[in-house]
Amino acid sequence: MKYIGAHVSTSGGVENAPLNAHAIGAKAFALFTKNQRQWSAAPLTEKNIEFFKSRCEEYGFSPNHILPHDSYLINLGHPEEEGLNKSRTAFLDEMRRCEQLGLNRLNFHPGSHLNKMSIDDCLARIAESINITLNKTSGVTAVIENTAGQGSNLGYTFEQIAQIISKIEDKSRVGVCLDTAHTLAAGYEIRTRETFDATFVKFDEIIGFHYLRGMHINDSKKELSSHVDRHENIGKGVMGMDMFSFLMNDSRFDNIPMVLETPDESIWAEEIQLLYSLQK
Ligand SMILES: [Zn+2]
Ligand SMILES: [Zn+2]
Repeated sequence: MKYIGAHVSTSGGVENAPLNAHAIGAKAFALFTKNQRQWSAAPLTEKNIEFFKSRCEEYGFSPNHILPHDSYLINLGHPEEEGLNKSRTAFLDEMRRCEQLGLNRLNFHPGSHLNKMSIDDCLARIAESINITLNKTSGVTAVIENTAGQGSNLGYTFEQIAQIISKIEDKSRVGVCLDTAHTLAAGYEIRTRETFDATFVKFDEIIGFHYLRGMHINDSKKELSSHVDRHENIGKGVMGMDMFSFLMNDSRFDNIPMVLETPDESIWAEEIQLLYSLQK
């Protein structure tokens, strides 16, 4: 079964996310558990936590279909000590928030070398950051998102993600989230039956479908190999509709949160319906 949703607002408190998801007919959702543009945030209150959990139950959202996303400020591969420490502290706080909310996965962009260290060293540092955090927490899987490879962001090849995973001590608590727009922009053609199949054979060989814990379902404003991260609403970018149809009819993507991060949120309800209508 497919669990389609969107990255919904938590304005007014995290407990509003399940309401916002229900209102657009979502079966899954993503959220920020704190302001994504600030380093620190007030701790979650008992009330936040209680309402979040009870509303998820009321509207039928299982933790297996909720994909929290961490702050954009965090860089787990930061080349400098101050930035690295700040990032690790903030990431631990994000993980603990997920624990408090009864959630079992946290999605994040791996990190950036900022042109101050080698790719291999940066990937090793990201793995070290994940290991440190996993050792201090329990029950939450670190879900590495593939990127478009914009600027010095790593995680734009399956090999880079596999390299991080190979260094994680507890492999049961590391996973991957694939963003369709990032995949294309990073240079993986997925728009025809042939290329979609070939790319996911590659994904399975290099990383493995057993690590897949979520998807970001986006069209892309930018072309193959552009290395530019610009999402577009479904059917309005360069992706074409075939890829979405392949995805919706492929059981390898069953039972994970599949989350829209498309720019016009006023049509998310329609996009969710559109995606479900592609199922044969
Ligand atoms: Zn994404
Ligand atoms: Zn993106």
